Amino acid sequence: MRYISTRGAAPILDFEGATLAGLASDGGLYVPETWPRFTEAEIAAMAGLPYVEVAVRVCAPFTASALDEAVLRDIFTRAYGRFAHDAVVPLVQLDHRHWLLELFHGPTLAFKDVALQALGLVFERFLRASGRHITVIGATSGDTGSAAIDALAGRAGVEVFMLHPDGRVSEVQRRQMTTVLDANIHNIAIAGNFDDAQAIVKAMFNDAAFAARFPLAAVNSINWARLLFQVVYYFTSALALGAPHRRVAYAVPTGNFGDVFAGYVAAQMGLPIERLVVATNRNDILHRALTSGDYSAGTVTPTDAPSMDIQVSSNFERLLFDLSGRDAGALAAAMATFEATKTLALPRAWLDKAGLFSAARVDADEMADTMRWALAYTGQLIDPHTAIGLAAARRDDGDTPMVTLATAHPAKFPAAVAAATGVTPQLPARLADLMTRPERYDRAPARLQEIEAHIAARARPR
Ligand SMILES: *Cc1c(COP(=O)(O)O)cnc(C)c1O
Repeated sequence: MRYISTRGAAPILDFEGATLAGLASDGGLYVPETWPRFTEAEIAAMAGLPYVEVAVRVCAPFTASALDEAVLRDIFTRAYGRFAHDAVVPLVQLDHRHWLLELFHGPTLAFKDVALQALGLVFERFLRASGRHITVIGATSGDTGSAAIDALAGRAGVEVFMLHPDGRVSEVQRRQMTTVLDANIHNIAIAGNFDDAQAIVKAMFNDAAFAARFPLAAVNSINWARLLFQVVYYFTSALALGAPHRRVAYAVPTGNFGDVFAGYVAAQMGLPIERLVVATNRNDILHRALTSGDYSAGTVTPTDAPSMDIQVSSNFERLLFDLSGRDAGALAAAMATFEATKTLALPRAWLDKAGLFSAARVDADEMADTMRWALAYTGQLIDPHTAIGLAAARRDDGDTPMVTLATAHPAKFPAAVAAATGVTPQLPARLADLMTRPERYDRAPARLQEIEAHIAARARPR
């Protein structure tokens, strides 16, 4: 499979190149040149297979030439062997129509482990084969940082510098990052907020002199391989509910549009998905874009579902590319307008092609109500992000089976869960000593020069 940029002016790469590149050099995102499509019989033949086997079948068409089936099987076996549940992502029935797909049984208790545990192994394999090394730089509001650090700790050829806003991530989230003591992991708490951290990271990637000295790499969801590994659980869950002979709908708590885009990919591959409900909190740019074509970024309002507190959803560009009829010129012009003015009116013709999606905006009261409903009527304690997805799912009428993606374990957000339900969720036993483990991290001012100097003193040059 070859990968092309959504903006049409970057080199065409193979899976390895696209995985190591992250962002395309023209500012666009890498997407597969075509969507591979399974026949109904091929999908039916996956029913009942273990998670790892479905993952091999779903991913192989995208990785061929770079990773063959035996290598994929080895990577997925090791990655998902670290999950606390044999089913990897168990599907839990709530009532006659609703299910939760529990994506949080990985090492750091959020769905990001599903992709990052495999990506860490893929990075290591590519780097070992080529003798190269990379410097991963990221900014996190909590979940991405801990999942990336767990996945990359101790991996050969990878050095990680993760910036988080000092004092503005939960203690559980901070400790999940700072108690990883491997020599290749460097946590930096910056004196600023998440936007400051992200702006510094972007500036480092754009600093040609700095980028020339260090082989910078990204692990956020602009990385195509992350999205690919998330396509798998749409297949396993739909198969469990009767696909390909029955249609299934999904509600997805959405921030950067990565997780829900993976559902779109599954549909392109032939999985009978009836609808993808994009659930947002009050940071509702995607809700406005999909319901009225108003794609305009406001300022971010902090909420109890911080991983959805996003105004510019990077992966939405991948959908817009398809909605434009894969017209890279039109898309590049549209994105230039959006980047210059922070606003874009989506053409009617593009929106008309987005019929697979619906959208819902869920406020704090409805989120808390949904946490209480889940506990009272199903016995499930759910986290704030999952509650937003479930609220959107329950508003959707129809009788198709509806799966809500449960993106985080409730114990990751104990204060918000306790405030809504009166019950404080407990960390799983494997993390029970998290609050007493030793921590290691540095503090730095939120200034590009200081952070670059900090990294330059520790990272291995090209
Ligand atoms: C990252 C995250 C999301 C948002 O996922 P996207 O792929 O960015 O849309 C939702 N919930 C939780 C718990 C997350 O960590």
